[in-house]
Amino acid sequence: MVIEFSRPWYGVAIPSCIIFTLTTVSYFGILQDVLTTNQTIWYFTTAIMISYSYYLAIVTPPTPAPSTLTQSFISDVMNNENDIFPTTTCKKCKKIKLPRAHHCKTCNTCVVMMDHHCPWTMNCVGYTNYPHFIRFLAWVIISTTNLLSQLIKQAYKLYIYRNSPFHLYQNVKYKIIILTLLIPGTIFVWLTVLLLLLKTLQNQIWNGMTQIEYWQFEMIENKYFQSKSSKVALQLQLLENLLNFYNKKLSTDSITKIQKLISSLQNGARWNTSFHSIINFPYDLGLSNNITTTMGSLNPLSWFNPWYTPLTASYNKINEFAIWDDNETHDNIKDMLLCLPWPLNYSNNSTFQDGELVVKSNDYGETLQDFGVDYDD
Ligand SMILES: [Zn+2]
Ligand SMILES: [Zn+2]
Repeated sequence: MVIEFSRPWYGVAIPSCIIFTLTTVSYFGILQDVLTTNQTIWYFTTAIMISYSYYLAIVTPPTPAPSTLTQSFISDVMNNENDIFPTTTCKKCKKIKLPRAHHCKTCNTCVVMMDHHCPWTMNCVGYTNYPHFIRFLAWVIISTTNLLSQLIKQAYKLYIYRNSPFHLYQNVKYKIIILTLLIPGTIFVWLTVLLLLLKTLQNQIWNGMTQIEYWQFEMIENKYFQSKSSKVALQLQLLENLLNFYNKKLSTDSITKIQKLISSLQNGARWNTSFHSIINFPYDLGLSNNITTTMGSLNPLSWFNPWYTPLTASYNKINEFAIWDDNETHDNIKDMLLCLPWPLNYSNNSTFQDGELVVKSNDYGETLQDFGVDYDD
């Protein structure tokens, strides 16, 4: 579902108001008299860190400036000899379409490792500002967990002393009202952000995928397991992609083998494959590499450094992914399929468009536009 505001700045104003209200009302209404000095310092430190990481997520461009990319990287991308990136210029912004880039409708530029266009930051979440986004979510969780534990403690105290005469005091009544509003509100923020943070970590760190890539991958998985005919259609599509893609590298023997398999599948034969034996997401290079790509470093201290982001220099290495290696022999069809680059382009036609899409919409009608991507039909 796309969230769009009549005025884009509403998207920033709403979370800012929630953060400000929760912080100040909780402090001045309840916690002012009960927190120790150290607890007060921690309370405001977390609030400042939320605001600052939020600010950085809003103002940091999501994609490296093309001028910072090395010439060798650009010529690698442009080098059609390798057949890795079939189309190299974005139709919308006329710039080189880098690997894993999508053109954002709102930012009107191609964003590398575009996760989604976030209405709450008025910015894309992409390669260069991922850590700010993750830190923002993490600080919200740290802060609301602390706040929630303090509020529940105060609520419990009031409950214990419910029969004592001080309960009749006016300010106690106010406290009860404030706690009744604040506790559910804080739980709501905590739960929503926790789910978002877990999903982001699962996609990006565990699977090495952006939200868009995860969505594409899941869709292909659904097609694979949906029915026998859709599985065969996917197998056929992949085999055709293989022929189109690596035709210069395939031996005559391999081509004959693939063509034979295609015609037998078209004639109703079955090909026994498991999903992971023919589908590969080539940018998932394991946990530690995924952490480095997302957070810029494996050092946990740098994860909490407010200014730390991945270096553009690392993006220049992004083409080091699991793909066809000329030094290896490729004679098994399944192995060859695992060398197909992403996106796999499982759609009605087998041509790549702008080096873009796998599939444009899933069975629930969700489209790439829901992530903010702009594309031509
Ligand atoms: Zn573009
Ligand atoms: Zn954007």
